[in-house]
Amino acid sequence: MMSVNVKACLNCHEYVLINSASFKHQNGVKEFERDHGAHMLETMQYVDLGDGYTSRTSNYVRS
Ligand SMILES: [Zn+2]
Repeated sequence: MMSVNVKACLNCHEYVLINSASFKHQNGVKEFERDHGAHMLETMQYVDLGDGYTSRTSNYVRS
């Protein structure tokens, strides 16, 4: 399986999927980073996310 990267907020336990090939995803990740500016953000692989993380991808990446 292909590895999927996410940008995760360790304070809020939320994440967005990273897709560097998609302009919408790039913008969504930037917005996510802005909204969690004072928090601990980390780029990691999806499989390394701990339990209880909620995807906010659909809130930040509009189709
Ligand atoms: Zn946060």
